[in-house]
Amino acid sequence: MISENMNYVQSKINEACKRAGRNPEEVTLIAVSKTKPASYIEEAYNAGKRDFGENKVQELCDKYDILPDDIKWHLIGHLQTNKVKYIVEKAYMIHSVDSFKLASQIEKEAIKHNKDVDILIEVNVANEESKFGLTYEETISTIEQIKDLSHVHIKGLMTIAPFTDTPEDNRKYFKKLKELSIKIAELGMNNVEMRELSMGMTNDYEIAVEEGATLVRVGTGIFGERNYNI
Ligand SMILES: *Cc1c(COP(=O)(O)O)cnc(C)c1O
Repeated sequence: MISENMNYVQSKINEACKRAGRNPEEVTLIAVSKTKPASYIEEAYNAGKRDFGENKVQELCDKYDILPDDIKWHLIGHLQTNKVKYIVEKAYMIHSVDSFKLASQIEKEAIKHNKDVDILIEVNVANEESKFGLTYEETISTIEQIKDLSHVHIKGLMTIAPFTDTPEDNRKYFKKLKELSIKIAELGMNNVEMRELSMGMTNDYEIAVEEGATLVRVGTGIFGERNYNI
């Protein structure tokens, strides 16, 4: 079932690319495996998937230790500074950097491990009170601070759009994130690339792809509903 779901989602991504005149190779489907057992990840892995997303440091580390080395683990959930030390060597990319303080902590651990760490800046484009992420207005000044770190490299922006029954409502937020990334790219800062836009989840990934997503994070659409009560 998992590989069929993955094929289905990938075909929807391809169609969205076609509508938007984009090359599907620009878009990576991240399979969000949070709360799901290793056996589910193995099934996706055996069907060719290498990019997986987790939102908790502990869970990512546990799965990292027992699953194949060539998996790219994307940390997509909120990261606390005191957990950075566990994740720096294991995450392929950290999607959820939303302060200079957090970036500085990543820098400190990256230097210790002599590692370069790729990050995305999380932007709360919809200005939702319940969400992490920088406001649209804070984003550029924070990037201007982070860019001077030697081991932390900004590769783009990430957003979590509001939960909605009408995904079309989120199009404006995806457009806004894309627009912000263009604005930042035009500033031509050293150590700042705007090649990745991490946006779109099960509900709204087709719209996100139409609006320029390069990383889409799909959990339910691949692995089924999550049960947090087990
Ligand atoms: C859980 C999660 C997803 C996947 O959500 P689905 O609706 O199951 O596709 C994507 N991004 C983040 C940050 C998440 O925490």
